Amino acid sequence: MPDNCIFCKIIAGEIPGNFVYQDDEIVVVEDIAPQAPHHYLLLPKKHIPTTLDLDLEDRELVGHIHRVAARIARDKGFADEGFRIVNNCNEGGGQVVWHLHFHLLGGRRMGWPPG
Ligand code: IMP
Repeated sequence: MPDNCIFCKIIAGEIPGNFVYQDDEIVVVEDIAPQAPHHYLLLPKKHIPTTLDLDLEDRELVGHIHRVAARIARDKGFADEGFRIVNNCNEGGGQVVWHLHFHLLGGRRMGWPPG
């Protein structure tokens, strides 16, 4: 685990996070600066810096993340009205934390195109 990775520290319980789900592969926490009434971060426990670093062996992990996102949207009651799953990749894509994560946003109408 890299010393300076804030998401690795949340996953390890070294700094606090509001967990809404976890299993052997991933954790889901509330975003500290929510951009929608529902805003969760889906984090693989394995440290992968960006989408560009995904290996063939991570195929199931990424599919699992999306299935869990859908389950959370249903469980929290905002699936039917619609939601968004976002991955920001690299600085130009808006990434600020270098541990792969997917945003799950819901509870309001989403605009397009995104900023
Ligand atoms: P990115 O721009 O896709 O890298 O998103 C990083 C996200 O992490 C942002 O939405 C931040 O609000 C969120 N974030 C940063 N630090 C924390 C934290 O300690 N707990 C929960 N969310 C965080």
